[in-house]
Amino acid sequence: MRIIYADCYGFCKGVRAAVDTAESALCRASSLSIPCYALGDIVHNDMVMGELKEHGLAVVPADEIEAPGIVVIRAHGVPDSLRADLGKSGLEIADATCPVVLRSQRLLRESRHKTIVIGVSGHSEVTALMGSGHDSVLVESEEDLQKLDNSAVYDAVVQTTFSLPLLERIRAKAEELGISISYLNTICHASVERREALKTLLPRVEALVVCGDANSRNTGELVEEGRRAGKPSFLVSSPHSVPAEVFSFGTIGLTAGASCPDTLIKSIERRLLDG
Ligand code: SF4
Repeated sequence: MRIIYADCYGFCKGVRAAVDTAESALCRASSLSIPCYALGDIVHNDMVMGELKEHGLAVVPADEIEAPGIVVIRAHGVPDSLRADLGKSGLEIADATCPVVLRSQRLLRESRHKTIVIGVSGHSEVTALMGSGHDSVLVESEEDLQKLDNSAVYDAVVQTTFSLPLLERIRAKAEELGISISYLNTICHASVERREALKTLLPRVEALVVCGDANSRNTGELVEEGRRAGKPSFLVSSPHSVPAEVFSFGTIGLTAGASCPDTLIKSIERRLLDG
């Protein structure tokens, strides 16, 4: 089997910084003999989270943590109200919110119009965005545009890893309905780069393996990109979960979501080459 890597894949700057922040917080907590908490997965990858938990990170709901301790805020951020509560709690905060997400939150707070968050309900970044600034309307698809008022003017912030084809459909429908929306540029460059590198790779391979977890939005986007191009595309979260069908192809394209560590990518590559 021949494996060709995409030119850009794996950990983005935001995820790398979040993991570094969590590791530093764990060291500090250990030296002070206090607990180190996270309010949810710091990044969307089971292997990375498993290692952090082995080193003592306790992932718990907000109402189960109390001072003294250190709380790590995940890469996707938290709503303003939760940040304010944490600030008053006496806990030390290690803020791993990605600067790209912090910018989206700031744009929502500073908007002078009604605001829309275009994203996937329940995703931690979207929860953080919905809790930033004024009450925003959540738009997940063209149908949700019915909730908007066409006499108003809206500013829209888009989830950093949102599907570009779906965003284009939402924009076209909003135009058709005569809704005035100004789209603030909040799609993350890292996820665009990974998608563009994949588009260049796809014509050269028979099938695609995307390393990463199913709960990572940008990883799922890479799989969808492969399928849109008509290539059999497989999401592989560990070397043990490579589907047998993958071994029937001669040339495989390999890429990875922004939350997938190099060690995992290499172990999946070894599994593919070993057959
Ligand atoms: S994908 Fe983009 S927004 Fe998400 S953590 Fe990475 S750099 Fe930040």
